[in-house]
Amino acid sequence: MANHEESQLLSLVVPFYNEGEVLHAFFARVVPILESIADTRFEIVCVNDGSADDTLAKLIAVARRDARVRVIDLTRNFGKEAALTAGIDEATGDAVIPIDADLQDPPELIPTLVQRWRQGAEVVLAQRARRTTDSFLKRATAAAYYRVHNCLSDLKIPENVGDFRLMDRSVVNALKQLPERHRFMKGLFAWVGFDTVIVQYEREPRSAGESKFSGWRLWNLALEGITSFSTLPLRSWTYLGTFIAMVAFFYGIYIVIRTLVLGVDVPGYASVLSLLLFFGGVQLIGLGVVGEYIGRIYDESKGRPIYLVKRRYQERRPEGRVAGNARVISLVSGKRN
Ligand code: UDP
Ligand code: MG
Repeated sequence: MANHEESQLLSLVVPFYNEGEVLHAFFARVVPILESIADTRFEIVCVNDGSADDTLAKLIAVARRDARVRVIDLTRNFGKEAALTAGIDEATGDAVIPIDADLQDPPELIPTLVQRWRQGAEVVLAQRARRTTDSFLKRATAAAYYRVHNCLSDLKIPENVGDFRLMDRSVVNALKQLPERHRFMKGLFAWVGFDTVIVQYEREPRSAGESKFSGWRLWNLALEGITSFSTLPLRSWTYLGTFIAMVAFFYGIYIVIRTLVLGVDVPGYASVLSLLLFFGGVQLIGLGVVGEYIGRIYDESKGRPIYLVKRRYQERRPEGRVAGNARVISLVSGKRN
């Protein structure tokens, strides 16, 4: 943990994707809370994940006024998981807190997270006590998902915990060593381990704008989670295949004996056809599952970067000092990648 003599640096990592509507409300609420935490400096690492609205312009305007706000502009929309990765890579703090821009993760909880961290926890998880603000369907599917995931995978992800949490620098450094391109952050966070405590909170409704996660996107995220952390879907085909082969074998013996005893029977067209179609279907499903994994191997093997940074924006402080040991980058330079 960081030295208590100097003030500690907190990094807030915020992905922004078309959040122009909430942006000012976000800073208005978060900054006073961060300022109220004693003995800390802070930086807000804002990742603009290829927003199509005025998010970037607004972020730059905020950064121009406040040197503690840094803007990382990605070249296009890479998705929340990649945007978070970018922010975590860029963060320089002794503790890093990823938080949603839509104020669904209450910033009022941050002082509590920091307090627990100072008491020695390396990871402080913020767990949703109740998900009353989510629709019934979202709650039900989320609950089912956690059950399926934790049943299939050796790695248990804590239920109702989002990306909102506090991580010590040591945890962040561990996280940065995970090279995979398919980033299921919840799983990666859980995978690295460390001393973890849980703090409960109530999730608020989105303050403005709308959710970027449609049912289809959530479904893909769910697949991502399972295929990234479990090979059980692959292995299960071995067991299913073995079972079917055994049944077929004994049925074969039975048919042979019955033919020897009772003579040739007229074969049933309907039963043959339905079995043929059924097992054709089963094979295709198996192939699909295998394909799901092969696709991921293919993506990983290309070794492309997880995100690309177009530009970084940060206002120079009058005395030329910048939060942490960040590179000093003025608002007009800083092209990289
Ligand atoms: N987000 C992002 N890239 C995306 C989608 C979302 O950076 O492609 C950000 C978004 O701006 C917000 C956070 O991820 O800060 C959570 O998104 P959202 O509130 O839409 O998700 P939900 O709360 O509905 O799960
Ligand atoms: Mg949200």
